[in-house]
Amino acid sequence: KQIGLHEIRKEFLDFFKEKEHLIAPSFSLIPKNDKSLLLIGAGMAPLKKYFTGELTPPKKRMATCQKCIRTGDIENVGKTSRHATFFEMLGNFSFGDYFKKEAIQWAWEFLTERMELSKEDLWISVYKEDDEAYEIWNKDIGVPADRIVRLGKADNFWELEVGPSGPCSEIHIDRGPKYGCGSENCKPGCDCDRYLEIWNLVFTQFDKDEKGIYHPLDHPNIDTGMGLERIATVLEGADNIFETREFQRIIKEVEKLSEYKYGTDENKDVSVRVITDHVRAMTFLVSDGILPSNEGRGYVLRRLVRRAARHGKILGIQEGFLSKVVNVVIESWKVEYEDLDAKREQIKKIIKAEEDKFQETIDQGITILESYILDLKNKGKDILNGEKAFKLYDTYGFPLDLTKEILEERSLKLDEKEFNLKMEEQRNRARKARDDGDSGWGENNYKDLFNGLNCIFKGYETTKLTSNIT
Ligand code: ATP
Ligand code: MG
Ligand code: MG
Ligand code: MG
Repeated sequence: KQIGLHEIRKEFLDFFKEKEHLIAPSFSLIPKNDKSLLLIGAGMAPLKKYFTGELTPPKKRMATCQKCIRTGDIENVGKTSRHATFFEMLGNFSFGDYFKKEAIQWAWEFLTERMELSKEDLWISVYKEDDEAYEIWNKDIGVPADRIVRLGKADNFWELEVGPSGPCSEIHIDRGPKYGCGSENCKPGCDCDRYLEIWNLVFTQFDKDEKGIYHPLDHPNIDTGMGLERIATVLEGADNIFETREFQRIIKEVEKLSEYKYGTDENKDVSVRVITDHVRAMTFLVSDGILPSNEGRGYVLRRLVRRAARHGKILGIQEGFLSKVVNVVIESWKVEYEDLDAKREQIKKIIKAEEDKFQETIDQGITILESYILDLKNKGKDILNGEKAFKLYDTYGFPLDLTKEILEERSLKLDEKEFNLKMEEQRNRARKARDDGDSGWGENNYKDLFNGLNCIFKGYETTKLTSNIT
């Protein structure tokens, strides 16, 4: 079926509206009243309290298209075909209403009837002990046994640090041997790009407490998540999520700014995809009220800006360019997220200021690194100690990969073990700061930042949803 991001998003929400779900707009990327999370990384995260029964949902069936950030995937971006740091997750949820049978049936109906995916290309994974889910797929839906795999806890059991959790079942699409690793054991769950995981159906039947103990919930729930960009990739027959239609505009803009032609050098293609991803992520982070800082969410943003700026350098872009790419991102996503358009100038200004600052950082960092290198050479050494690299990184904001790259060019090495040790200490400090409720940027900054602007997402005004959640 020839449809893109916008249409898929709409068809998904319409489909679940027909199945009597309440459709809610995406929640902010900033979790509300939830210290266990830095950023929202799944559709269920802002609804956690409905699953545990702590709050009563406005309706027992809901569906959303949720903005997500997964910093854990940052290193994968541009390298795998399927990972972004920012993405949108489509999800349908049952708070003690329907369970496995309906969730599985509707997912199948949506993919094979609405999206017209071929049944033969779909593979299913279930948690190894979940015979119930296996039977539904095999007997009720008719998926042959050789296309259902049983996987362990790492792949098919869903949980956050605390809160609702349970076994899950994933739907994968076989994109053909061309994307495969060639291994005999290559099947869903393999890390290569052949079996693309598109939809995860989580059967939330436990509540996990701080000690890691699973308490069965009075009524089991359904929590599903499908990556919007991934299903679009499949429907458009694109190679990776950044080559789908809506992303093409961004790639074109980066091509224009860098005079590099996408598709001519694999390493530079990675840089183009990283820039594409990171600019989209930073645009949404700033629009939700986050400002660059050295801690918590602000640090996530800072890191994205720096990584993107640096990849711009790899492509030979001399001047600051990120705010130009921001414009293109907003053009593509303002249809669903009107607030992006309203906050356009602020978003650009904040990102530009951070990028400018980083340009200075780079120059300053290179000077300092050169002095370290001179020192090494004078002493006849070839390994830079981790403490110095960490100082460059932590105090001067100079990225580690840049340090490594420059050292490599001079045939020098880095004591990464010591660096990681310093990094871990820093993380612990940040974690502590977060637990103390001192994460830097919160609601107040948000208000100041966009003062006087009419920038509240309209969907929130129409339901009691947000007030229920706060
Ligand atoms: P993967 O194994 O590919 O890393 P996952 O198992 O970590 O995915 P889930 O936590 O099950 O992903 O999230 C539900 C869905 O969200 C996935 O099936 C996928 O479609 C989508 N998704 C997850 N992570 C990303 C990401 N980094 N970028 C884009 N989409 C994602
Ligand atoms: Mg993952
Ligand atoms: Mg997975
Ligand atoms: Mg999964």
